[in-house]
Amino acid sequence: MAGIYIHIPFCKKACHYCDFHFSTSLQYKGDLVRAIATELKLKKDRLAGQIVETIYFGGGTPSLLSDVELGLIIDTLSQHYQIAPQAEITLEANPDDLDKAGLLKIKQFPINRFSIGIQSFFEEDLLWMNRAHHAAEAASCIPRSQDAGFENISIDLIYGYPILTDAKWQANLAQAVQTHVPHISSYSLTVEPKTALAYQVQKGLQQAPNDSQSANQFKYLQTYLEAAGFEAYEISNYAANQQYAVHNTNYWKGIPYLGIGPSAHGFDGLNRYANIANNAQYIKAIAHSQLPETWDYLTQADRFNEYIMTSLRTQWGINLTQVEITYGAQRVAWILEEAAEELAKENLILVNNSLKLSLQGKLFADGIAASLFWEDDL
Ligand code: SF4
Repeated sequence: MAGIYIHIPFCKKACHYCDFHFSTSLQYKGDLVRAIATELKLKKDRLAGQIVETIYFGGGTPSLLSDVELGLIIDTLSQHYQIAPQAEITLEANPDDLDKAGLLKIKQFPINRFSIGIQSFFEEDLLWMNRAHHAAEAASCIPRSQDAGFENISIDLIYGYPILTDAKWQANLAQAVQTHVPHISSYSLTVEPKTALAYQVQKGLQQAPNDSQSANQFKYLQTYLEAAGFEAYEISNYAANQQYAVHNTNYWKGIPYLGIGPSAHGFDGLNRYANIANNAQYIKAIAHSQLPETWDYLTQADRFNEYIMTSLRTQWGINLTQVEITYGAQRVAWILEEAAEELAKENLILVNNSLKLSLQGKLFADGIAASLFWEDDL
């Protein structure tokens, strides 16, 4: 079992908060897609004998691909990989690309899941973010996609930005629930270095996000979506009827996946790699049949820490039985000792031999995970 992540590094506009790898010049889109097809061929032996259960087109904005470009990638995948008949094939899409023509284009391919970057249903908020789409497109693209037969839809919403009042956040969530999408991903705005937002905050042109506003909006998100029938199966991910994102869930479970395209990350089951985050250099390397990737060889402590970091964010938590099988009883005793303070504060709870975050604890997830990291040998 394996997955494939394909990074499409192009966007119409640069959202002010975004630090993903992308270009707003579409000049080399065709060359880059051909390089992606070549990289898929070069890496085919890495998944020899494995069934591909998930394919994820991320970005960037994969919905910018033309039918010829999408067709080239999908044909290459089907010629060189063993793809499960029921594979989850997700395309990240922007609302402005999901008009009638855009949906007809995508419908030609076996894409069966959308992850739509709605972010907000308010025009002023989308303008503040410098998104490429308008509020009317955010509202209309979901029912239009559903009418076109795309039922498995996830939408992204952002909270914690200065102009998002609690009333607007509540309205965004109410509208999201009314669309009957089975999956919602929601992230707090963070100011990443080298973004337009970071520059604006530094120059005093923009307020920095406010921690207590963000915490309150996160708590509302959790309680509102749970009351609406969504499971908070990961800190930022909510699913109705157990329609979890299989690709992401497999990532958290440590299932191998190929990373294709500039800046894409991959995992072979033991170690991780990252492709070069530069379109021109990526195209050039692939043209010479070279894989422009840098490997990160994980130690046992790295693997343990990754497990702590990812599992703690999920509703299943840190499975201490699993830790004992993999790392020994001494490591479990150590975790429980380190976790004692957070257990006493009820930021952590111990249920069925698994350590999980409480609602309050989720606000401190990264710090709590770090306190359980393996730094020295026992
Ligand atoms: S559309 Fe997505 S990838 Fe592109 S700039 Fe906006 S947030 Fe970043």
